[in-house]
Formats: sequence, structure tokens, C-alpha cells
Amino acid sequence: MTVPTKQKAVVFETNGGPLEYKEIPVPKPAPNEILIHVRYSGVCHTDLHAWKGDWPLPTKLPLVGGHEGAGEVVALGENVKGWKIGDLAGIKWLNGSCMACEFCQNTNESNCAEADLSGYTHDGSFQEYATADAVQAAHIPKGTDLAQVSPILCAGITVYKALKTANLKAGQWVAISGAGGGLGSLAVQYAKAMGYRVLGIDGGKEKGEFVKSLGAESYIDFTVSKDIVKDVQAATEGGPHGAINVSVSEKAISQSVQFLRPTGTSVLVGLPAHAKVESSVFDAVVKSVSIKGSYVGNRADTAEAIDFFSRGLIKCNIKIVGLSELAKVYELMEQGKIIGRYVVDTSK
Ligand code: NAD
Ligand code: ZN
Repeated sequence: MTVPTKQKAVVFETNGGPLEYKEIPVPKPAPNEILIHVRYSGVCHTDLHAWKGDWPLPTKLPLVGGHEGAGEVVALGENVKGWKIGDLAGIKWLNGSCMACEFCQNTNESNCAEADLSGYTHDGSFQEYATADAVQAAHIPKGTDLAQVSPILCAGITVYKALKTANLKAGQWVAISGAGGGLGSLAVQYAKAMGYRVLGIDGGKEKGEFVKSLGAESYIDFTVSKDIVKDVQAATEGGPHGAINVSVSEKAISQSVQFLRPTGTSVLVGLPAHAKVESSVFDAVVKSVSIKGSYVGNRADTAEAIDFFSRGLIKCNIKIVGLSELAKVYELMEQGKIIGRYVVDTSK
């Protein structure tokens, strides 16, 4: 397989600065890395946060973003085991970790202090060729549609893990706040496949129809509802047993703690800049609710999330555009106008 020395990528030099579609060198894999010819990459709201510099964790600069990349292995570092040229591979948010600390030992690699992050501390999938740690890269079954699977590599893994974190039983209610977006539209489907009853919350009629078409029994429009807490409790016969927060709204996250059924769990996933979650201590104690953070997933969560997809239980609602149009995708995302996920084709 011949690998070129130059390629197209989207690069930014400063947070919030120009997103330049330009030619850069093809990276060389380190001994522990594989080189992936990225065909498609999902665009996650995290990529927008990274570009804007929203979080108290600095990105590398200049940076190639992207962490939902799907493609083929075209080169192997000298210490790589378990991969061969031509295998299908996925770039996910967690690119690598120390593998020695308490958290790595217990398969919580994303909580490692030395976690290396694709499209954040390591150049990611908004380029034609990207390097990835051979241990953490996702194995994608032969014959998989690479555009369709790309959103599973962050959005799918993350919501699947978040649903496990809510610790629900089949037949119980789960509210997905932000249900029409990239993570939310997958959360609705994983929740259904796991046997839960789903209520979706998002804005607008079109997102409501979309969320219901994915299997949500009920939908609350936050742009219309005068009292979200009351409306959610009424629709779920006393409040959901769990809530998955994938909106980028501080207000919506605090509402989720209020509308929970006693003993329920609210899972924090969405990461609005500088946000705080507010909960009355009295209510939290008397209702005995839990608030838990959930951060992507480990290698087993990755394999399981891909397996749900491969068995046809999850469909990604994608719109494919060229990599050169990434800045336009960020604009639509900022305005909350995206239904499902945009995926970029790295060849255009
Ligand atoms: P997205 O923009 O595709 O979706 C967000 C959705 O929230 C939109 O549909 C929007 O209309 C909706 N929304 C906005 N305000 C709302 C409100 N008040 N109530 C209900 N819904 C509302 O974004 P995404 O790619 O799905 O990412 C969502 C968030 O999750 C981002 O902050 C991202 O950084 C974060 N994220 C976290 C993890 C993790 O591991 N914890 C992983 C991936 C992404
Ligand atoms: Zn992501």
C-alpha cells in the first residue's frame, strides 16, 4: 500500500481562530501506533468546544480536531500487535493512557491523569491520514459502512456507557435531554435496545418527530413547555428513573435533577462551558437521587457499542459533507440546527 507524504487537513493555530483547510505532511506512526487512512469522521460537539477553547484543559496547538474517524490501517509501528494492513479501525476520543495507574488497572483509562485525547492533545480525524495508539484504536468489523459507523466511535460509546451508568432495569423510564442531537439520537436507540422506556427532550417540532421516529414514546419541546419539570413528571408517571444529559445547556442539566423520580440517577455527559449543576440538598436527600458523571467508555464499552450497531439495532442519522466544509458544520451546531450527526468525507 502506498502512503502519500502530503494530505489535506483542517487545522487551527489558535482557539477560535481560522479553520484552515490545507495541505500538511502525513504523520508517521510511532512504534506503538497504527496509521489509519481516515475515510469519514463524525463531527462531535466536543470538536466545537475544543476549537473554541471552552474547557479548563488546554488543547495542543496547532491542532487537527476530530475523534470519530473511521478508515483502514495502512501502516504499522514496529511494536504493534493485533492489527494488520487493511483492517478497519476507528479513532476515538481516548487515544492512549499510561496503562499503569489505579484507574487504568481498573479499566477506567479515560480517568487516567496522562490520558491522550484524539483531536485535543493528539491530532485527530479531520485529516486523511491519522495515527492512533494500537491498544486504544477501535476494531471495526470487515464490511462495515465507514460513514455510518463513524458516530458510534464517540457518540455511540459515550451514550451506551452513560446508560450503563444510570443502572436502570428493563421497563424503566429514561429521559434523554438533548435527544435530537448527535449523542441524543443514539442514546434514544441504545436505550430502546436495552429495554428502557424513552422520553426525549429537545427543541422544535422537527426534532420531536425525529426523536419519536427513533423510538421515544414521549417528547417534550423545551422551547414550548412552560414547566419542563412538571411536564416530564406527568409524561413518565412520576418522573424518570434515569436521565442522560447530552444537551449543551446548564439549565437543562439542573432541571434533570429536579424531575427525577425518587431514587433516580441523573447522568452528566454534556459539557457546556463553565457550567454548574444545581440541586437542593433537601430534595436530593429526601428523594435520595444520584448525580453521576460519565466520560466516554473503555475498550469493552467500545466493542459492545459497535456490536449493537453491527447487529442493526442502531442507525446513525447522518449527513455527509466534505472536510473542507467543517467550519459550516460548526456554525450549524452552534445554532442547535443539526438533527442527528454531520459526517465529513476526508477526500473532499
Ligand atoms: P449536539 O449539538 O449534536 O446536540 C445537543 C442537543 O441539545 C441539540 O439537539 C440541542 O437542540 C439540544 N439542546 C439545547 N438546549 C437544550 C435544552 N435546554 N434542553 C434539551 N435539549 C437541548 O451535541 P453532541 O455532539 O450530541 O454533544 C453534546 C454534548 O456532549 C457536548 O457538550 C459534548 O462536548 C458532550 N460530550 C461529552 C462526552 C463525554 O464523554 N461526557 C462525549 C462526547 C460528547
Ligand atoms: Zn465526541
